[in-house]
Amino acid sequence: MYKNLKILDEKDKMLHNKCVNATFPLTDEDKNLINNALEYLRLSQDEEKAEELGLRAGMGLAFPQLGSLKNIFVVSYMQEDGSFLEYTVINPTLISYSSELIYVEEGEGCLSVNREVEGIVPRHARITVGYYDTQGNYKEERVREEIAVAFQHEMDHLEGILFTDKIDKKNPYKNMDTMRSI
Ligand code: ZN
Repeated sequence: MYKNLKILDEKDKMLHNKCVNATFPLTDEDKNLINNALEYLRLSQDEEKAEELGLRAGMGLAFPQLGSLKNIFVVSYMQEDGSFLEYTVINPTLISYSSELIYVEEGEGCLSVNREVEGIVPRHARITVGYYDTQGNYKEERVREEIAVAFQHEMDHLEGILFTDKIDKKNPYKNMDTMRSI
């Protein structure tokens, strides 16, 4: 149940630690966290349900946000037809990335950052990531646009980095005109 999830706040030290690789087979705790996180993200993107349940909308959660220092994250993205594009990514490595940079126009959000944040985060428009699925099979995935941003945001979490750490303190909109907004 998503109700069992405790999403840590940015002030929590846990979020500033590096994670270690998960081992297979996954533990029951790993599987529960994955399922609960995906359930939370799906419900949170359904406007009616999110309001009814008081959930903040999000499309990704990384294990350190849930109190586990393992290299695992999930992404659930509601498509225009209402279906969800979902990924469970374990022990990811960045294989390649586009030189083209993009940023989210309205700013990135994070379920651990409960405040308005000024500024933009430069991200690669396309990346290829190698990772393991829940069964321990190796995969490679090329992702782009919103999904590429989500993957980079979540991979940063596994390194103990929050999106707020990547915003230039003196000039939060630095180099904005050299990047494409999405
Ligand atoms: Zn986040």
